Order: sequence, then C-alpha cells, then structure tokens
Amino acid sequence: MATCISYEYDATTPDATWLCAFCERGPHAAGLGDLFGPYPLDTDCDEALDEASRRRAEGAAWLHEACAVWAPGLLAAGARLWGLAGAVWSCRGARCVVCARSGACVACRARGCRARAHVPCARGVWTLRDEDLHALCPRHATDTPS
Ligand SMILES: [Zn+2]
Ligand SMILES: [Zn+2]
Ligand SMILES: [Zn+2]
Repeated sequence: MATCISYEYDATTPDATWLCAFCERGPHAAGLGDLFGPYPLDTDCDEALDEASRRRAEGAAWLHEACAVWAPGLLAAGARLWGLAGAVWSCRGARCVVCARSGACVACRARGCRARAHVPCARGVWTLRDEDLHALCPRHATDTPS
C-alpha cells in the first residue's frame, strides 16, 4: 500500500514510538492509562513478533484503550485488532478542533458536522457517551436531548 503519510512528531525523539497512535500522547497522559501494543499496522500479518523484532518494527502502533474505543472502524477481538491501520491513517489526517493538532479520533455524530477531537481533549468539552460511543461537539451537544 503506497501512502503519503507524514508523521508530525520528530523521528529522532527516542521515545517517539511510545506514543499513542491516535492522540500522540504517552502512557498515563491526561488520565488515559497505559499504552497497549505494539500492534502491527499491517493487519494482514498475524504472526507473533519476538521481542527484538518488535522493537525494530516499523509501522507498529501503541494505543490507549480509551482512544482505540473511539477510533472509527476499529474492532477488537481478544489480542487482535482489525482495521487498525485504516483507523490510524484516518485519525492522523484529522485535526482536533480543541487543540488543533492532528490525530483526532472522536468524530461528532451530528449530520454534516466534520468536527473531530482527541479523546482527552473532548472529555469535559464534548458530549461523550461511552455506552454507545455517541459523540457530539459543543456546537451540536444542545441539539439532542440528553
Ligand atoms: Zn491515546
Ligand atoms: Zn486535541
Ligand atoms: Zn458537531
């Protein structure tokens, strides 16, 4: 798959890979908890990686469970994730309306609204319903009776 994805973080930063693939924050940032991973972004490959190749693995993703839950098209079943690569690429190109950085995986569900936000940015500002993953940006939160 040919992509023109450019990573916004500095590749020379030693711990750059230890950031959530979605919100680009580290473990325990903003109360998000541990990072899980690495998950191979090539979702067709399900062979187990040994420790050494994990560290070298390019295109491997770490993620907060809270961010993964909200990522579009991402399905988790046991230790495997489906749709991770697509979800990460789609979030990479989405700019957060709260902090203006990319990697926003929460999308406003209001019809026609293109607002996106990071999970930690959206908390407390957007209306987030974890039970059915219903998200509304501040502009639309009042449209729907809660
Ligand atoms: Zn995250
Ligand atoms: Zn944000
Ligand atoms: Zn909206």
